[in-house]
Amino acid sequence: MWACKICSQSFDTIPTDAIPIGERRQHGYRLWKFSNGSLHDLREVTPSLVGRKGAHTRFHTNRGIKKDECRYCLEDLEAENPHQERSCSQ
Ligand SMILES: [Zn+2]
Ligand SMILES: [Zn+2]
Repeated sequence: MWACKICSQSFDTIPTDAIPIGERRQHGYRLWKFSNGSLHDLREVTPSLVGRKGAHTRFHTNRGIKKDECRYCLEDLEAENPHQERSCSQ
């Protein structure tokens, strides 16, 4: 399944008529334009990891671990470094 960073929705599959915009970025995010004109920044996620924020807090945050496959770790990471992807000068 696919999780959207922009609207926090999740999708079982990407519609076949959706258009990918640009390359896959770090952490596997990629921008997609759906046929209805909406933009979604989608990343493939393992359903078992979705909705496990309690486990993330317990096993990751409390231990100072960042897992690339954990969406909450990624959210934490981006909250800490909001300009990480666009900054080329550092
Ligand atoms: Zn979206
Ligand atoms: Zn985590």
